[in-house]
Amino acid sequence: MGEQIQPVRGMNDVLPEAIGAWQYFERVTRELLTAYGYEEIRVPLLEHTELFQRAIGEHTDVVGKEMYTFIDRGGDSLTLRPEATAGIVRALISNGMLRGQRHKLWCLGPMFRHEAPQAGRYRQFWQVDVEAVGSPGPDVDAELIAMSARLWQRLGIEGLTLQLNSLGTPESRRLYRARLVEYLEAHASQLDADSRRRLVGNPLRVLDSKNPEMQELISRAPRLTEHLDPESQAHFEQLCAMLRALGVRYEINPRLVRGLDYYNRTVFEWITASTAAQNAVCSGGRYDGLIAQLGGDATPAVGFAMGVERLVTLLVAAGRVPAAPRPDVYVVVGAPQAFQPALQLTERLRTERPEVRFELNAGGGNLKAQFRRADRSGALLALILGEDEVARAVVGLKPLRDTAGQIECPMAQLPAGLDTALAAARAAAAKP
Ligand code: ATP
Ligand code: MG
Repeated sequence: MGEQIQPVRGMNDVLPEAIGAWQYFERVTRELLTAYGYEEIRVPLLEHTELFQRAIGEHTDVVGKEMYTFIDRGGDSLTLRPEATAGIVRALISNGMLRGQRHKLWCLGPMFRHEAPQAGRYRQFWQVDVEAVGSPGPDVDAELIAMSARLWQRLGIEGLTLQLNSLGTPESRRLYRARLVEYLEAHASQLDADSRRRLVGNPLRVLDSKNPEMQELISRAPRLTEHLDPESQAHFEQLCAMLRALGVRYEINPRLVRGLDYYNRTVFEWITASTAAQNAVCSGGRYDGLIAQLGGDATPAVGFAMGVERLVTLLVAAGRVPAAPRPDVYVVVGAPQAFQPALQLTERLRTERPEVRFELNAGGGNLKAQFRRADRSGALLALILGEDEVARAVVGLKPLRDTAGQIECPMAQLPAGLDTALAAARAAAAKP
């Protein structure tokens, strides 16, 4: 026997027993996004490494230490996408889709980051990414956030809070950055190793530190929101006013800076109280400079990404996952010789009644074993076809969820006879 091959650390299988929650999440999300006028886009998992270096920024954790980068057989440096925005922007540029046009797009798929795996943090994880390209906001920012709030409601996820901040323009951020560095340098002895490293490359990220010993220092740091340029200030105030008018509650978090470099003005994060360490389930913001930075016509844009594993965990905890679909009819095959007629009949019924779910007993077994499987399958009705039934051109129909006995139905009266039996079985099963 060969040695077992281990899965790659931090990369998970989504098994059939868990897939119902995923499909429910995807269905509700897809319906809502479509209702708001968003269109699906699918971009490659691999891009040139340079795309992420330029988009996300050299001094971020993602580019600095989390990317899966390799040289392919042609000698190109490629990277498995750590997020979707860069690829979507690249696609808009490559396909000549900018030129003053607006796009509302969404994308679902796996992302890859070489992080320390733990609950809610994986090396392959799924995101739904949503982007509104071509509007400077804050109207579209407000609508996007309201849409996310509506999604939690549709999904039945409670207890998420919205954190909001404005990063201003690159210029106002530069000024603020200088003030912050001054402050942090004056307190250099209190910085942990991580923060000292960030102080050099990406000082705003110090504000994002999760180290409890850093919190007091951070809380006394100068605030970004107090250093905004007047336009960004007005943009932010309008956004807040629109959210209030919609009844979307938010908390202004002056330390919310986000892990990717391309954001400006609006940034936000939906967080849950239920998984303390990995609390962000949806994060996003405005990235007005990114498209030009990647060689496209300057175009404002705003978007967010949701962590599917984290949201699915919340859905399951909330008991909101619909039960897995059960077969309606279990086809019991009375004898090996009856299998081919049973297969033919089942296929015929599948054509005539596409909405009915049939489970055909394949792989034999005596009647007792087959009825046990039929019971376990959750089906409402057994359709029985043995040698004798084939010879007489009839089928047996037996409700599985109530005490009514087996009846016989001529094949010539199918599928009508099946409809009647199924309706009766359904009615009986629905009774308390
Ligand atoms: P975090 O602070 O948790 O590391 P992030 O700021 O790196 O998140 P983004 O890059 O904005 O997150 O990604 C958007 C969303 O994707 C996050 O809000 C989170 O729900 C999810 N996410 C990010 N990284 C992971 C991961 N390694 N495993 C699972 N989900 C993730
Ligand atoms: Mg991260």
